[in-house]
Amino acid sequence: MKPALFDYHLPSSVDEAVGLLSTVEGAMILAGGQSLIPAMNMRLASPAALIDIQRIPGLASIRVENGVIRVGAMVRHRSLELDEAVHLANPLIREFMAHVAHVPIRHRGTVVGSLCHADAAAEMPLVLVLTGGSVVARSPSGERVIEANDYFTFHMTTSRRPDEMIVEARFPVLPQGAGHAFEEFTRRHGDYAIAAVGAILTKGNDGSIREISIAACGISSKPVRLAAAEAAFKGKPLLPETLEKAARSAAEAVTADDDLHATAAYRRHLVGVLVKRAVQKAADRAS
Ligand code: FAD
Repeated sequence: MKPALFDYHLPSSVDEAVGLLSTVEGAMILAGGQSLIPAMNMRLASPAALIDIQRIPGLASIRVENGVIRVGAMVRHRSLELDEAVHLANPLIREFMAHVAHVPIRHRGTVVGSLCHADAAAEMPLVLVLTGGSVVARSPSGERVIEANDYFTFHMTTSRRPDEMIVEARFPVLPQGAGHAFEEFTRRHGDYAIAAVGAILTKGNDGSIREISIAACGISSKPVRLAAAEAAFKGKPLLPETLEKAARSAAEAVTADDDLHATAAYRRHLVGVLVKRAVQKAADRAS
């Protein structure tokens, strides 16, 4: 199929793009086009105009500074995946990125585009929630920072206002000595997750878990922190019974209904298994 007719704008600055977004009726930002263009071809989306941000200078920059990885709106998945400074600052990123689609798609699709598309089964939104990251939204009235927990509101829905362009995503650097892990289950490599779990933890001198963050995608209408599972581990040594308790807590966080890919009961089982694997691996890696 072919998309419906649309106007095309190629702004040369963020101010120009934001100006167009707030004045052109029915306009949408075009980044890597890996989600939007297929949706247009299938007529699931019919924007009146596209604002192509690919030529705006400065948007493809990655900076690691003051404990934060700052990712511009035109940074492609593959650039973030291969960046050595990012890998040193947060090795979780390269690990989960291998699960995002396939290499040719990662060469085109952008990190921020994924956060704007906000598929509830996508890996990038899960990692923003897991690490306690944020996005920077720009509109004609200024800039604001939106924390990950306030940003994702529902499947393919965020708290970004229609006149706002996301100009940057911010992922915190992992704490010193932290262990991390990412576990995903799909029917075919490169698919969106049926369920995926990320874990980051630090240990105390006695080997007990001091701080822990666990998050999942594919199990509800948005990526979620698994607070009850986190509470099961905090301040305790990693024992088989703790893993079992956390798995049961994680299962209770599943709100997805049965769908084409899995039943809700299967997802409840799956998320428990993934939490156990991820936390065990993160604990083995923590120093
Ligand atoms: P686009 O398609 O250009 O835009 C997506 C949406 O975000 C649009 O609504 C657009 O208006 C909006 N947008 C983009 N940038 C901005 C901005 N700066 N400010 C405001 N709005 C913006 N993704 C996964 O996470 N996991 C997968 O397993 C996976 N598998 C895939 C398999 C296939 C075959 C394909 C084609 C894609 C897959 N994807 C997957 C999606 C891929 O990661 C996309 O690249 C990503 O979701 C969107 O990034 P994009 O740059 O292509 O955005």
